[in-house]
Amino acid sequence: MNLAMIGTGYVGLVTGACFAESGNSVCCVDIDEGRIAALRDGKIPIYEPKLEELILRNLHNRLSFTTDLAAAVKASTIIFIAVGTPQRPDGKANLEYVLSAAESIAATMDDHKIVVSKSTVPVGTASRIADLMTKIATHPVTIISNPEFLKEGSAVDDFMKPDRIVLGGNDAEAIEVLKKLYEPFVRNGNPLVVMDRRSAEMSKYAANAMLATKISFINEIATLCEQFGADVDQVRRAIGLDRRIGPHFIFPGIGYGGSCFPKDVRALIAMADARCELPLLEAVDQVNERQKRILIEKVRSHFGADLSSRTFAVWGLSFKPHTDDMREAPSINLIEALLGHGASINAFDPGAMTQAQRIFDGSVNYCHRSYEALEGADALLICTEWDEFRSPEFQRIKKILRNPVIFDGRNIFDPAEMKQRGFIYYSIGRNHD
Ligand code: NAD
Repeated sequence: MNLAMIGTGYVGLVTGACFAESGNSVCCVDIDEGRIAALRDGKIPIYEPKLEELILRNLHNRLSFTTDLAAAVKASTIIFIAVGTPQRPDGKANLEYVLSAAESIAATMDDHKIVVSKSTVPVGTASRIADLMTKIATHPVTIISNPEFLKEGSAVDDFMKPDRIVLGGNDAEAIEVLKKLYEPFVRNGNPLVVMDRRSAEMSKYAANAMLATKISFINEIATLCEQFGADVDQVRRAIGLDRRIGPHFIFPGIGYGGSCFPKDVRALIAMADARCELPLLEAVDQVNERQKRILIEKVRSHFGADLSSRTFAVWGLSFKPHTDDMREAPSINLIEALLGHGASINAFDPGAMTQAQRIFDGSVNYCHRSYEALEGADALLICTEWDEFRSPEFQRIKKILRNPVIFDGRNIFDPAEMKQRGFIYYSIGRNHD
């Protein structure tokens, strides 16, 4: 099939590359000329495992990149909208990019097209797109909602073997075309679920809200564990054995971040607006904001309120491992708080240094290696659980740090072992006796 992918971010690039890999001809469009020029040269603007090899294998073959939306639309039967829906100041999803893409598609359509909304959008947006496009277009258009559930860090695998695919729409023909397109991705037997557009749009928000709720729940239990001398790791294991709860996604830490959970929880709250209150999701967001401050509180309770003579090594900046995405990363809150209290920062991340440099500019000392960040530092703070931090040379850490103090925001080390190694070790919700 001939496809156009509008937006070459984490979702658009992965989706475009995976559809090309399965034999379709995909033209990816972006308004960012620099990004398109780089992609044409085989330079991948984001860090996402397996994406580069996929793009390079299909480039100039079935995968192309352009800023010419009109040409891409004319050459395609299915057009995906995968542009950003960032948070507006009032918490609502900013639909400016989605609607502008829809308008441009409508203005250039020269035949019937299937337009698929892949961006995460408030319930009713697909209908809004349909109304908007019908007014502009001179040819019929079918709008299908197809929310994306991939996770950054394993996006290619998630897309290739999805837990499920959700298609929202009532045009049986268009649904059949999309089922055919997705056929290679559901050979594992995982379902392709067809529903109405509003339910499809809601499913995406509900999934992210549920995942965010799990994280805030276990973080609240971790806070309780600290107060009562219990160990959240033990508690997590015990409750995870209950099949109704399950062991997945109940790891405490310094809060969730990224481009989806924070904005999607807030977009749901804003969407409910005057219609109903969502006290649970408001609490999920509040707990998360509190959790992002937990390491700075521990640091100040150890070193005192004034950190002006202190230097801290920060390992891990991206909001989670295996991505360079810094959007709403808890490391930002931590580093800003440390800088605000006068501390100096030596930071290292295996994948997100370029993105991080755009956020903190000259106020942070960026290091090329993890151990370099420890030089002259009073303590090590771990914000992201990249694999390379999991089994470090503890003796070396101890030798380089000014004090053998570690604040572990992701619970990657064993408290008993750390004590035995002679570290003062702080983590989240664990009994350190
Ligand atoms: P992103 O910010 O990484 O990329 C968006 C891209 O769209 C940018 O390159 C931008 O230049 C481009 N763009 C904006 N307006 C355009 C237009 N009119 N024409 C062409 N290109 C345009 O966004 P993302 O992280 O890929 O997310 C895209 C959507 O998918 C969002 O709604 C997001 O909530 C949702 N989503 C994201 C993830 C994720 O993990 N990132 C997962 C599932 C769903």
